[in-house]
Amino acid sequence: MTAKKNLMHKKNSAVVSAVNKLAISDYIMINPRYFIYSYAAVARMLGIKASLVKKVEIWFNCIFVIVAGRRPRFWKKSVFSNHFADWRKKEGSKLYAIKSSSNKFLVESSKKNKYYYVEAWQKDIVCNCDDYQNQQRILGTGCCKHGYAALKLLGFERLSQYVEHHQWVNNDEPYDWDDYSDY
Ligand SMILES: [Zn+2]
Repeated sequence: MTAKKNLMHKKNSAVVSAVNKLAISDYIMINPRYFIYSYAAVARMLGIKASLVKKVEIWFNCIFVIVAGRRPRFWKKSVFSNHFADWRKKEGSKLYAIKSSSNKFLVESSKKNKYYYVEAWQKDIVCNCDDYQNQQRILGTGCCKHGYAALKLLGFERLSQYVEHHQWVNNDEPYDWDDYSDY
């Protein structure tokens, strides 16, 4: 390959990779439900590699799943939605979290040497990670594993439990841990 051709090839590869990235995010935008009914979720639930999951198809009241070497099966939708929260909760429980101010937390990333910033609000546990942003954009609500790590530190298991606890507070103030430390 000549130097010029080589450069063109490199440029084209970069374009293809950018297009692929765009296609994946577009795919999630167009099919938000695949955010929950994902190949990765099936793989995690079965404890197998994601590459073995061949098809995850959304039907009217169930999910059709094909996995290499197994009989095709219909799965209940609730299995996926439960896994969605349970898996994040479980992952969150493994992460180190510290309170940096009354309602702010630093939560370690599952990848090394990185922290996420989590803020506890009366009805929401906000995080600056992609998963949290995606859940808000696609589902309009949600909690990421870093949020679960902060919730655990506050003494709550689930977001709903935390929100319920604060129903009597009628404002959008951040959660002030010190105010509630007697409870
Ligand atoms: Zn997060």
